[in-house]
Amino acid sequence: MREGIVIPVDGPAGSGKSTMAKAIADHFGLDYLETGALYRAVGLMVLDRGGDPDDAELAARCAREMRFECRKTPQGWRNFLDGRDVTQALREERVSDAASRVSAFPPVRQALLSFQRSYKERRGAVVDGRDIGTMVFPEARLKFFLDADIEVRIQRRFRELRERGIPFDEVRLGGAIRARDRRDRERAAAPLLAAPDAVRVDTSDRSIDQVLASMLEKVREVYGEVIEAP
Ligand code: C5P
Repeated sequence: MREGIVIPVDGPAGSGKSTMAKAIADHFGLDYLETGALYRAVGLMVLDRGGDPDDAELAARCAREMRFECRKTPQGWRNFLDGRDVTQALREERVSDAASRVSAFPPVRQALLSFQRSYKERRGAVVDGRDIGTMVFPEARLKFFLDADIEVRIQRRFRELRERGIPFDEVRLGGAIRARDRRDRERAAAPLLAAPDAVRVDTSDRSIDQVLASMLEKVREVYGEVIEAP
């Protein structure tokens, strides 16, 4: 019954989209795909090969050759690149920057499209990213677009790094986040944009629990009992 249900959750970095998408997937027992990790994996592959993330040809080749998997493990949802758990490596700042560069190339986006669309054949899935509701699954009955004030999103990133004990320079990292944000919004290929029919959620001054509760309610409203059934 749940086959074919795909719930896109789009938004900029720090909007809370991955946290919410995972929580919705876990709540209903759905599959989950973090598409940002796909672009990050391409960026990591380029860097591992000693290449330049602005090299469109190399980036497209990596995107075509890559074997990627987002899988639930006892440690939570983890990302695998060619069988290797790269969840942690994908969060490095140099990889964030590379991801935002390689993702601007249309052949890279094209190479990752059929893998993303294959999630429609699964037993229901939540997919988070930037263009899921606009380009990957524009036909989805329910799609979310999360956003938050840029200052709030930067502070969330600082807090995440502090909690993990990773040192950083506030001014430099704040500037890098702003630059990435601008690049994602202003690029020609699939810029970050809410689908006209997306449910918009501002997470700036609401707790995770409050936002999640409102999103779960919306999912039940649209999919009713179909989504509650095991
Ligand atoms: O969501 P996350 O910050 O992990 O995404 C990393 C980068 O991948 C973003 O800066 C964005 O440029 C790119 N991306 C994209 N399309 C998606 C998901 C992410 O272009 N669907």
